[in-house]
Amino acid sequence: MSEKNKGLNDHLAHKKRIQRMKTGVVWFVFTWMMALTLISVTLIAKIHSFQEQLDIITENTIRSQQVEQQQHQSANTGDMRAYGQSLLKAGGEQQGSSGLKAGLDGSGSDEGASQEGTEDESSKDSSRPDSYKDKKEVRKVYLTFDDGPSKNTDEILDILDKYKVKATFFVTGREDKDSLKRYQEIVSRGHTIGMHSYSHKYDTIYKSRKAFKKDLRKIQKCIQEATGQKCMFYRFPGGSSNQVSKLNMGEFIRILNEEGITYFDWNAECGDASAYDYTSQEMVDNVMRDVVKYHTSVVLLHDAENKLATVEALSGIIEQIQAMDAQILPIDKDTRVVQHVSAESVED
Ligand code: ZN
Repeated sequence: MSEKNKGLNDHLAHKKRIQRMKTGVVWFVFTWMMALTLISVTLIAKIHSFQEQLDIITENTIRSQQVEQQQHQSANTGDMRAYGQSLLKAGGEQQGSSGLKAGLDGSGSDEGASQEGTEDESSKDSSRPDSYKDKKEVRKVYLTFDDGPSKNTDEILDILDKYKVKATFFVTGREDKDSLKRYQEIVSRGHTIGMHSYSHKYDTIYKSRKAFKKDLRKIQKCIQEATGQKCMFYRFPGGSSNQVSKLNMGEFIRILNEEGITYFDWNAECGDASAYDYTSQEMVDNVMRDVVKYHTSVVLLHDAENKLATVEALSGIIEQIQAMDAQILPIDKDTRVVQHVSAESVED
């Protein structure tokens, strides 16, 4: 092979190499561009989907806040009938509530699984603290003690006497000598006595209309024999909105309506029926937080052997209520009712 041919061949081979390299570079750039485009498209799609999800989350948050606000307002403005009916429905359909279920075993206290208390329609605006000032009505607070009489009754009565305050005792059925004496003491010292069922056993009382009536007669008779009073006030164990009764609570409300018995729930509570062990100071704070919202407050407290913190809290509760220029009164026939499920919402 001549030198000239060799040079030509080298030149051609060199050119081919260059050509291959150029093609390689072009392919490399092209592939990169394709890859980048794909990555970009994917990223844009992802960002878009995230944005949509974010929008949905934001919208849901705003909506749930609005619903919460509306519920709060409707509960607080005492739109009793609508709220009562919804509770009534819920009460008939649902089962189980931490605080309420505790009473099923008959171990004592029941109420207080935080029920949003409401007032009747005549006090629509009263629940707002600011509107309280608009009306020149004296604030009324009704202290109510459930589940007694107990070993604590005597001390509770002494504290009430010390502050010259009358309260209401929703009692259960006990026929031992001490209990009979305590029923009498409650009445003779000027307090209101109300019924809280005889047995306080949810599964018995709320089994049927017949069972409820039987228990009602028994507690009414028990109190009448001890005190000479025919009692016309009632507090449902667990409240009228309890979710423990298998029967619709409307059935039992109708019985009380027929008998002309007025039942009271509560819109303020110290928390002594809660699973959380509140200190007596926390109980005072709990009551005051509720009481400032209403013209008429019915405060749920318990007179039970194991509720010592309630007894300890009582003086503080009374002092703070008195300091806010409110009247502490016993329930009577003129007391504005506080009912979770309105008696009027139940048809005859
Ligand atoms: Zn009770």
